[in-house]
Amino acid sequence: MIRVPVPVPGSPYEVVVGSGLLARAAGCLPELPAAEKAFVVADHEVASRYLAPLQAGLAERPLQAVHLPIPQGEQAKTLSVAEALYSQLALQEAHRSDLVVALGGGVAGDLAGFVAATYMRGVPFLQAPTTLTAQVDAAIGGKAGVNLPAGKNLVGAFHQPVAVLCDVSTLATLPDREFRSGLAEVAKYGLAVDPGVLDVLEGSRDGVLARDGAVLEDLVARCVRAKAAVVAADERDRGPRLVLNYGHTLGHALERVDAFRGRTHGEAVAVGMVFAARLAEALGVAGAGLTARHQRLLASYSLPTGGPLPDADRVLEAFRMDKKHRGTVRFVLLEDVGRPRVVDSVAEGAIREVLERMGTTS
Ligand code: NAD
Repeated sequence: MIRVPVPVPGSPYEVVVGSGLLARAAGCLPELPAAEKAFVVADHEVASRYLAPLQAGLAERPLQAVHLPIPQGEQAKTLSVAEALYSQLALQEAHRSDLVVALGGGVAGDLAGFVAATYMRGVPFLQAPTTLTAQVDAAIGGKAGVNLPAGKNLVGAFHQPVAVLCDVSTLATLPDREFRSGLAEVAKYGLAVDPGVLDVLEGSRDGVLARDGAVLEDLVARCVRAKAAVVAADERDRGPRLVLNYGHTLGHALERVDAFRGRTHGEAVAVGMVFAARLAEALGVAGAGLTARHQRLLASYSLPTGGPLPDADRVLEAFRMDKKHRGTVRFVLLEDVGRPRVVDSVAEGAIREVLERMGTTS
């Protein structure tokens, strides 16, 4: 079991990474004075597998777990599902000291976190992420929210959890594509923040793909440390946290423009990181070889590394709509692995040229 502190000023907490943690949840939680019930927000897929061990773990506290079911997938992240959860909490007489728990992927985490942030102006919140994406990214940092028809994550709050339990044994049942999608986020940490993560991805590929518990524990803990350091320095996402956006400028644009091509978030980010590496080389920010290293790494995990991409005009238009857009297109580029730099005002001609080169690559 590895404990990683997240020293957010005013609300520090720990991320605990290990195998079989759900059943040992009681020992991973901080003091929760007067908490009697734990309201566990989970879809049926996750609840059918992991509610029982979590229930047993919480019972040792003693906390009585009450399941609040939600629909599966992104369509659960809405104000109407949040409202149904508020009603359930009121009906079941949840009080201010009780715990709301997210058990599942980033959808359960964002939704339950938003409900916990707003019900009675804020109740304690526990993250129990069961996807790789949520364990290394979504569950840490306190960003919570729901979607509107007008766009993703348009309504939300910052609400730090009391703890995060990353039980890597839950990753064994994750569908292959979801797992690989999470690996793209892991690769992001390796390429942009901590080359130690790259060493694991490149040196222990078989163990990663076999979802070996010890290898995953090490890998997840490294990513958590990287995210924790960035979050502690920039809780409200005003500056340093931007490096976590590596590969996401094009990634988000692809998700928006070519939703019907069916790339997952991780697949779009993988293509986005190769794009960023090519752009860094084209602008002279990085030396030759950075793109090739990206391509080798991502391809070895069966992640996409190139096109075909949508028309450059549509991608540029999507860049301008990005919520992180500040009048010019801003990219996180790498001087080398582990050496990110934020570059503003990249000429559209350079972007267009790289996009067009990638469009014909594969
Ligand atoms: P998800 O929550 O939709 O989960 C993916 C699917 O996997 C679901 O169908 C779920 O039922 C299933 N599942 C989950 N755990 C499983 C397991 N252990 N075994 C079998 N099946 C399992 O997807 P996700 O990729 O985890 O999260 C995506 C969401 O996270 C998006 O809404 C995104 O906006 C959000 N996100 C938030 C942050 C943040 O900082 N708050 C960061 C990144 C992403």
